[in-house]
Amino acid sequence: MAPITGVGDVDLVVVGSGAAGLAAAVTATHGGLRVVVLEKHTHVGGTTAWSGGWMWLPGVGACAADPRDKGQSEASAARSYLRCVLGEGDFEKQRSKIDRYLNEAPNMVRFFSSMPSGPLAFEPEDSTPMPDFHPCDGAGAGRLLRVAAFDGFQLGPALERLRRPLPEFAPFGMGIQSGREQNRFLNIFRSPQAFCAVVPQVIRFSWNLLLYGRDVRLVNGNALVGAMVHAALEIERQACKTDAALMGAGVAAEPARMFRRIGIMTSHVVCKLEAEHGRITGVMVQTPEGLRTVRARVGVVLAAGGFPHDAERLRAYLDHAITGQGICSAAPVQNSGDGLNLGEGKGALVHPPLSAPAAWAPVSLYRRRDGSTAVYPHFLDRAKPGVIAVGRSGRRLFNEALSYHDVVSEWMRKTPASKRLDAWLVCDRRFLWRYGLGAVPPFFTLRCVASKYGQYVQRAATLAELARSIGVDERELAGTVAQYNLDDKHDHAFGRGGTPYERWGGDPLISPNPCIGPIMRPPFFAVRLHPGSLGTLAGMATDENARVLDTNGAAIPGLYACGNDMAAVMGGHYPANGVTLGAAMVFGHIAGQTAVDSPEGRTARGAAQPPHEFSTPQRDSSP
Ligand SMILES: Cc1cc2nc3c(=O)[nH]c(=O)nc-3n(C[C@H](O)[C@H](O)[C@H](O)COP(=O)(O)OP(=O)(O)OC[C@H]3O[C@@H](n4cnc5c(N)ncnc54)[C@H](O)[C@@H]3O)c2cc1C
Repeated sequence: MAPITGVGDVDLVVVGSGAAGLAAAVTATHGGLRVVVLEKHTHVGGTTAWSGGWMWLPGVGACAADPRDKGQSEASAARSYLRCVLGEGDFEKQRSKIDRYLNEAPNMVRFFSSMPSGPLAFEPEDSTPMPDFHPCDGAGAGRLLRVAAFDGFQLGPALERLRRPLPEFAPFGMGIQSGREQNRFLNIFRSPQAFCAVVPQVIRFSWNLLLYGRDVRLVNGNALVGAMVHAALEIERQACKTDAALMGAGVAAEPARMFRRIGIMTSHVVCKLEAEHGRITGVMVQTPEGLRTVRARVGVVLAAGGFPHDAERLRAYLDHAITGQGICSAAPVQNSGDGLNLGEGKGALVHPPLSAPAAWAPVSLYRRRDGSTAVYPHFLDRAKPGVIAVGRSGRRLFNEALSYHDVVSEWMRKTPASKRLDAWLVCDRRFLWRYGLGAVPPFFTLRCVASKYGQYVQRAATLAELARSIGVDERELAGTVAQYNLDDKHDHAFGRGGTPYERWGGDPLISPNPCIGPIMRPPFFAVRLHPGSLGTLAGMATDENARVLDTNGAAIPGLYACGNDMAAVMGGHYPANGVTLGAAMVFGHIAGQTAVDSPEGRTARGAAQPPHEFSTPQRDSSP
């Protein structure tokens, strides 16, 4: 089969252009390898481009604050926290990977923020730091980092190849950064400072829209992907400059190629791994021109984003039957388990999860005007005062302010395995105006809600009428709301607002319990919840160097996995926001550096030393 025209042999093929794939590709290119990233979708970025962009990297912020400590005390507190959340048994099973994650996190940040070409600007949270999910020994707050807002202009024409953010999180296409910026929008009519900060932002956005037809200020996961693509473009640009200089000096340049050091090719679906004598040597790829091959001298990195849209595989891991219902994933449909299938085809072990197979989130389904369906993850509204989640019985099902993952875990645990998971979020008019509900943003008039979201939210003048329209027990719902309204300090049913994380999600202007407020002002509204996911946690077994392991525990030569293709570092537990992207960046970086340091990597880059000193795995000595 013919190779892709203009690509030639490369050192490393990376499958998938999310955080993990780009981290591996940029690291390997910096180390001297020639890399091609093959992306199935027409646009770059995967789930990462839709995400909040938060990375859980304990010790890194503390390291910057007190360089003498080097983040050690924070990392060791985080280790205690993980031991407590995972439990002694699961922690020990995952220990070598967790140690590698925590030890390598500062190196990863240092590497990407000090790259000579296109350094990434990491920044800490700029509003009240988010606490870890569980009030356990070692729990902390402020362990998240993200990439600062990025000027999309720097990407030139490549900006149009970047996957745009989800419209439901970017009203009218305007990027709103999570954290302080988002809070300002929520408080626009309550705080003059918020109002004054929002107005110039809206003017700047309108100006961009007028001139360029889109927002060019990239934020959240879009900023992370944009900055990584920019780094790749910079490396390539400098390589071309060097080649031009060599030609000027009379030295023969490489034959004409589509790219010198790193290429990112969209609409290229990797469909088979090639192997010779047990070693992975390349891929077969479906291109717009037909089936082609790419040979890889060093190996292949699988970073295809897990299997959130492979219903069969997911069901095999579930205790709950989710009868006829399935899991609605907010991840892109392209993430259908290709990486795992490719790996398994070459003998890789797909690790059964120690805990959950996926990162759960309660979601609602919203039909957009263009006919597509948005899977909306409920991150922000559930913990705010004045909303409850009820089942068909009309009774509350769980503590609504738990983390998105824990809400669905609780929901499954409490629903008999053969029953459907049915729930509705119920609120009143005051709540809808103040905080919004799911895809309905705040500050929408009743008329706007009816015209734009009439199919999405159910509305009724009384609770009894609402109960009838959504098929919920009328008397029970009235009783549930009456009981909830009595509890203004302590939620007697579920203790909502009882942990720092839950209170963080509430409304800081409401006291004594920022998560509790009455539901009493008609009309009343309900939105249907479904069990959903943000991505998967079960994946291929790897060692702590991101090398894929076979069923005997041996590394498959030339095969690496990272991001959601790799069995999650936390073994399917979900201790804090940002653990998936944090691990995707750290193990993507590790996969890239392992390929560079491999014997084949050393041969491929000749005698040249990588420009950065790579760390070696250390075992933590703390108890
Ligand atoms: C709305 C939302 C918000 C989130 N916010 C956060 C957050 O703030 N912090 C956090 O830690 N996590 C967050 N997550 C989860 C996080 O985004 C994902 O876990 C993470 O992005 C996965 O990264 P990845 O590189 O493994 O996969 P992806 O970013 O999904 O990239 C995988 C890529 O592989 C491509 N691909 C698939 N098959 C093939 C093939 N055969 N050939 C070539 N390419 C292929 C896909 O098209 C895709 O582009 C969020 C998720 C969602 C949905």
